Amino acid sequence: MAYNYDSKLRKERLPTQWCPGCGNGIVLNAIIRAMDTMGWKKEDVCLVSGIGCSGRMSSYMDCFTFHSTHGRPVAYATGIKFAEPEKPVIVVSGDGDGLAIGLSHFLHGCRRNIDLKYIIINNFIYGLTNSQASPTTPLGMWAVTQPFGNIENTFDACDLAIAAKATFVARSTTLDLLRLEKVLTAAFQHKGFSFVEILSGCPVNFGRKNDMGAPKEMDDWIGSIGVPSARWQTLSEEEKEGKFPVGILKQTAGAKEYCEKYSEHVKKIREEDHGTGIFCETIAPEDQENEECDSVKRQFRFTGVGGQGIISAGEILCEAMIRSGLHSATSLAMNSQVRGGPTSRDVLCDKKEINYPYAINGEIEFMLSVADSSYQIYKKGVTPGGIIVIDPNLVHASSDDRKTWKILEIPIVEIAKKEIGNIAAQSSIALGIAVSITKCVKEEILLQSITEMVPKKSIPANIKAFKLGIEYAERVLKE
Ligand code: SF4
Repeated sequence: MAYNYDSKLRKERLPTQWCPGCGNGIVLNAIIRAMDTMGWKKEDVCLVSGIGCSGRMSSYMDCFTFHSTHGRPVAYATGIKFAEPEKPVIVVSGDGDGLAIGLSHFLHGCRRNIDLKYIIINNFIYGLTNSQASPTTPLGMWAVTQPFGNIENTFDACDLAIAAKATFVARSTTLDLLRLEKVLTAAFQHKGFSFVEILSGCPVNFGRKNDMGAPKEMDDWIGSIGVPSARWQTLSEEEKEGKFPVGILKQTAGAKEYCEKYSEHVKKIREEDHGTGIFCETIAPEDQENEECDSVKRQFRFTGVGGQGIISAGEILCEAMIRSGLHSATSLAMNSQVRGGPTSRDVLCDKKEINYPYAINGEIEFMLSVADSSYQIYKKGVTPGGIIVIDPNLVHASSDDRKTWKILEIPIVEIAKKEIGNIAAQSSIALGIAVSITKCVKEEILLQSITEMVPKKSIPANIKAFKLGIEYAERVLKE
């Protein structure tokens, strides 16, 4: 098969910055060959890399790429996979990145069985940062942090993956190109967390400093430590010392993949009625006209103090906006005292994509506040002429404030206490008020979100509170 390297490389970035003789280029080409064998188009693939020499993979591959933070590529890739579960996501990491700082992400990816193609290029050292010992640096080898020879026991990445229940585990070396391509293709074909460790040479910061003078000597060493898995079984414990079985070491068919499992679970939950009769599927953007939301971009703010529960109202509103087919984002501000300190929750919605998740100060059209400390801090964000709903028992609005904004007074906490018997119901009262005044989403859609997001046993109280909020807001608007 003729492979089309050119189409999947960012040629303007070449030559690579990798040292002559580095194994990373061999892995890059092998990934491209396996992608070609799979028939994957670059427009469909996302490659996520971590930090280290292998992290540069995302600069050279011409597909969707993401150069993530140290040790976190699996976490980023998990989010990407969730967003596009049908598209292949390849993750490339090094032994330092993936087995030290990123170890827990690696193990949790395995246990979840999310369909990521996770490749750790194990060159036995932190190469980029000049030779610190990594979790795979062999015993006795020199590293700048182990100048008298490494005394730390090593991790076996494939054993870890198997113990953490990865459903596909394989290993190859950069010296065994056919096997390398074969295990990568098999990993790409597998549905579920597919882990491939590639033993690779770092001639400059590992080999050279461990008496392997030229890249060829480094390669000879790499070639000598991989033992085909069938032969591995015949070796004595002594003969296995310092060597690694190569090939497919584990493959479990039929285990449920995480995104599929999650989507089936959510579907099942949504099919449940919760006794309200109003639970329904999310409404797709194309099915929803949002005729009640007549502005392109809208910004709202809920303020109170930490522990009051009012801030969760914004989260529910955000969810309802998404259900309505709008784009929505929410952000949270908490001062140092989470409990008792002033907090605010901003919620944005737009018919277009939102690229910045924070409300713009001076542009917020609606704010609701149930604590004076937060009101005084956050009111400045509201646009002149905008609406601020305050609980008059808890918030003081000055005469200047009343000239600047339309201040509406509703005793939210008292209503929650007296009519619901539970102060926590104030967040649903706040939602009823917000929806009634702003008309940003349909009441029944917000009710669906409340039903889904509050604890099951408190659904009836929250529904009642939401309706009370609407009632009080309508009353105040009429006055
Ligand atoms: S330092 Fe090592 S791993 Fe990094 S590019 Fe050079 S040879 Fe490759």
